[in-house]
Parts: sequence; structure tokens; C-alpha cells
Amino acid sequence: MPARQSTTSLAVVTSRFRLGEADRVLTLLSATRGKFKAIAKGVRKPTSRLGGGVEPFAELDLALITGRTFDTVTQVRSVRVWLGLRSRLGSAAVAWYVAELVERATSDEQPEPELYALLLHAWDLLESGAPDALVARWAELALLDAAGQGPELDVCLECGRAPVAGEALRWDDEGAGIRCLSHAIGGAFSSDALRLMRALRRFAPEELVALNLPPAPQREVSWALRGAVHILFGAEPKSRSFMDEVLAP
Ligand SMILES: [Zn+2]
Repeated sequence: MPARQSTTSLAVVTSRFRLGEADRVLTLLSATRGKFKAIAKGVRKPTSRLGGGVEPFAELDLALITGRTFDTVTQVRSVRVWLGLRSRLGSAAVAWYVAELVERATSDEQPEPELYALLLHAWDLLESGAPDALVARWAELALLDAAGQGPELDVCLECGRAPVAGEALRWDDEGAGIRCLSHAIGGAFSSDALRLMRALRRFAPEELVALNLPPAPQREVSWALRGAVHILFGAEPKSRSFMDEVLAP
């Protein structure tokens, strides 16, 4: 049996499950390593040295021993903690949802620094008090853009014409972008919804509050991006319904 190798990694926990009496298996994301799994042995015992160190919504400096299936965590130190996400249910629900999106979009042991930065940026925005639902929409659009599946928002998919201000449009059923009303493909999409979607691509969510958009275009954008994310992953993210329930007015 080859000598077991020790490594260190800066990572965040995106999901975790209990194993046996006192262990946890963690799914971790790292800018330099992508997605990987590690086991935290004895972590659920009150006397564990790892104890509270492997909580979610923290960037952790981990010492690991390489194993055949999973690495084993031997030491952990919190580098950054997003404490606000642990105390506000709506922000926590969005934080878990964005973590799931990024986890699904990242391959095992394939560094995706852009996606890792997206996740931390979303957590920063939530921590700073940006509206929870807008952070979710911003993250969905940023993820689609990063995956090369970002919707066309500037010109009609069919004829290439740029819509005029206030023009009613249609939204492609597969999330590819906008069409003129005359093409009769896709569902209704208002000019306010297009304005919000474009702003989500350009600004951070805290800047969008100044737009003072009514709820209707937010619902249209939510519906449009929900479909596009479903198509990207071939399924609805598991944390979606909980987030929707928590954020429902
Ligand atoms: Zn057209």
C-alpha cells in the first residue's frame, strides 16, 4: 500500500451527510481542486477537535490525508465565516441553493475558479443584505453565462432585431433568450422583465434595488431562469422548493 499523502486545501462545504455513529462525509468545493469529498471522522462527538470547524458558510483551510475513496480531514481552520447566513432563514436558503447550483456545475477534481468565485460573491451579497430573491436570480444568470448557456438578451433569436424600449416580447421555452411577439414562439415576456434580466447581468443585486421593480417582472424572470436552469442540469435543483417556500411573500 502506497504511503498516504497529506495535502491542504482552501474549500467550502456545499453539502454533507451523516455516516455511522459520529462521522460526516462532506462535499467540498475548492478554487484549485474543484469538487471533492472528504470524511470528517468523529466530528459529531461533543469532544471532537474538528467539531464546529466544518460548519457550512465558511471558507476552511483543511489539512487532508489522501484516501482511496475519500480524503480524511485531519485539521480545520476557518478563514472566513458568513455568520449572517446562519442566522437568517431566507439568506441561508438562497446560500444553500447557490451552493447546489455551483456544486452541480463543477466536476470532480476539475478546478473551476470562476464558479467558486461566483459562490463566494453570492454569499457576500447575501451577507451584506442584498435582497435574497435577487441574489438567487443573479446567481442563476451568472451560472448560465459561465456555462456558456447564457440567454440572448440583446436581439431577437429569430430575426436578429433589437427590441425598442417598452416592446412586449416572448421568452424562448428552452431559455435561449428573447423573440419578437410576431414569431409566435415562447411565452409572454414583458419589457420590464427584460430590463431586470439585463440589469442582473450588468450589476450586482444590491444595485438593483434602486430600480424599484414591481413584483410582476421579478416573477417573470424567476420563471424564465428556473426553466433555463432546469434545462442546464436536466432536473430541478433539490434545494429549489425549500427556497421558494421560505421566500414566498
Ligand atoms: Zn424577431
